[in-house]
Parts: sequence; structure tokens; C-alpha cells
Amino acid sequence: MGILEVKNVNKRFGGLQALGDVNLSIRENSCHAIIGPNGAGKSTLLNCLVGKLIPDTGSVLFDGQSVLGRTPYEINQMGISRVFQTPEIFGDLSVLENMMIPIFASRDGSFRMHAIENMHNEKAVVERAKQVLDEMNMLDKQHMHAASMSRGDKRRLEIGMCLSQNPRLLLLDEPTAGMARADTNNTIDLLKQIKDERDITIAIIEHDMHVVFSLAERITVLAQGTPLVEDDPENIKGHPKVREAYLGE
Ligand code: ADP
Ligand code: MG
Repeated sequence: MGILEVKNVNKRFGGLQALGDVNLSIRENSCHAIIGPNGAGKSTLLNCLVGKLIPDTGSVLFDGQSVLGRTPYEINQMGISRVFQTPEIFGDLSVLENMMIPIFASRDGSFRMHAIENMHNEKAVVERAKQVLDEMNMLDKQHMHAASMSRGDKRRLEIGMCLSQNPRLLLLDEPTAGMARADTNNTIDLLKQIKDERDITIAIIEHDMHVVFSLAERITVLAQGTPLVEDDPENIKGHPKVREAYLGE
């Protein structure tokens, strides 16, 4: 059994079947990519895994426990952390303050902006935040305004914010979208390093095939809300159904 088991998940938005009988099993400590054309249901699926959406039918088990009916916070506490499609950092805060937020919030269950001052007084939070920034090779940027960083560094910060919680499963929704090639390559290197150095499972939704084939050990192709193929990267590359549905051939 995989660390994440999705069984017969269906999700409708009015008349639109966004997910139809999705079955997916993600092996522990692997990197599993979910690819597919725009509108295939990739983000919807991810939202169903983290409690942002509730499937109409089906089950989602993380380490044998159902995530359905739990809040995003509860699911996060179970060990699932997620990087959204658009960066979700606080541009007005420093890099260090951004890193402190998930560490602070995972202890207190919530975060309010007026808590920033309190955070600075919590020595353990500050130290842990600096430790993670160091692991991310970002300690020299701790006092920078988060908004002034490059797209690649913002992503690095966000991924670090997730890792500060020591998740067992890291979910990434198009982490390199809108990035210049150099930033994309830095993100690939960072994710490779995370894979090598940690006991972590990574599920990545990604459009960029260079990223997918650099990282994934297993690939699921989603088309019109349903998995079309699941296989190892070498078999996905030449798969006629994939070429037709995904590459438009
Ligand atoms: P992907 O991430 O693969 O591009 P999405 O999961 O975002 O695809 O969307 C799948 C389909 O569901 C699309 O047709 C999209 O327009 C639709 N959809 C997504 N979210 C909503 C929503 N909240 N309300 C209505 N339709 C939605
Ligand atoms: Mg999407």
C-alpha cells in the first residue's frame, strides 16, 4: 500500500465532472508526477488531498488514515504540506519572518498578523527558522523583503516553509510555472537534494516535461479528470495515448 491511496474519487462542479473515478497510489519516499493538459483536474485533485475541496465520492487515505472530513490544518498536522500554484508568501515581511510563520502556526494552530511581534520573542521559533533557512542556503537573505526576491528564491522560501514542518508528503502544484530557465533549474536541483537527503514523498504537478523527467520516478497522466496511464518515465515518453492526449500529436 502506498503512503497515499486515492480510490474512486469523483468531483463535480455543477455540470462539469472535474474528476471521474480517480485512482492513484503513491509509494512512500518516491517522487510521483501528475501531468496532463490544462483543465485536466490536476489542481482539483490536489485540493481534494489537502482538505480545500471535498470529493463527492471516493476515499483518500494518507498512511492508512482517511483525510476526508478533516480541515486543511488537521491534514497538515498529519504530515502533508503543500506548495500552491501561485506563490503564497508575505511580500511585506522579511524572509526570516516568512519562515517563522509555519513554525509558529504549527504550534499554535493559527496565525494572525499581529502575532509577528510575538514570534520574534519566541527564541525556539527564531532558531528553527534560521536553521531551515540555512538548510535552504538562504540564511544570507534572512533580512530581505520577501517581495524583492527572484521568483526562484520565492519558491525556495516557500518550499523551505513547508519543510520546516517536517512533512512526510510534500505536494507541489506547478512549482516552476512562470519561471526563467535558470530558476527552474535551481528548483530542480533543490528538489533533487530534498529527495536525496530526507525521508520524504514528493507528489508534483508539473507542466514542464524537463522538470518531470528530471525528478519523477513514476508518472500519472490525467486527462479530462481521469487517469489515462500510470507508468515509469521511460514508458511514458513514448506512450501513444500520452502523445495524443498530452502532447497533442
Ligand atoms: P488543472 O489544474 O489540471 O489545469 P483544474 O483542476 O484547475 O485543472 O480544473 C479542472 C476543471 O474544473 C476545469 O475545467 C476548471 O475550469 C474546473 N474548475 C476548477 N475549479 C473549479 C471551481 N472552483 N468551480 C468550477 N469549476 C472549477
Ligand atoms: Mg492547475
